[in-house]
Amino acid sequence: MRMWMVDPKIMCRHHLLGEHAEIHMLVWNIDRKRSVKGYLDKGLLETHNLYARHAELAQEFRRRGYQHNSKLDVKWKHVKKEGSIDKKRSLADLLNRCVECKERYLNSIRTGT
Ligand SMILES: [Zn+2]
Ligand SMILES: [Zn+2]
Repeated sequence: MRMWMVDPKIMCRHHLLGEHAEIHMLVWNIDRKRSVKGYLDKGLLETHNLYARHAELAQEFRRRGYQHNSKLDVKWKHVKKEGSIDKKRSLADLLNRCVECKERYLNSIRTGT
């Protein structure tokens, strides 16, 4: 599980749906008091940004016409600051891993959107 925290517009369908599902899984785990220390330590999770990131992804879902029926409890708006993601590294990681995200990213640079 991880939050990519890159511009959702450059994410392929697979990665966009994946990060969204993983945010719900992270929340599910934290709600059940399961440890997410490994994700925090590896820089894959920012607890305080789960809510805002989920909203951002849901907005991109709407833009693309994907279904979204999974709200996050508003309590996630106000949680203590925990974890830090290096967004540059995250982007490099994603582009390395996925040709489709890379294509979308290069396209967004070319077209300036
Ligand atoms: Zn959702
Ligand atoms: Zn991808």
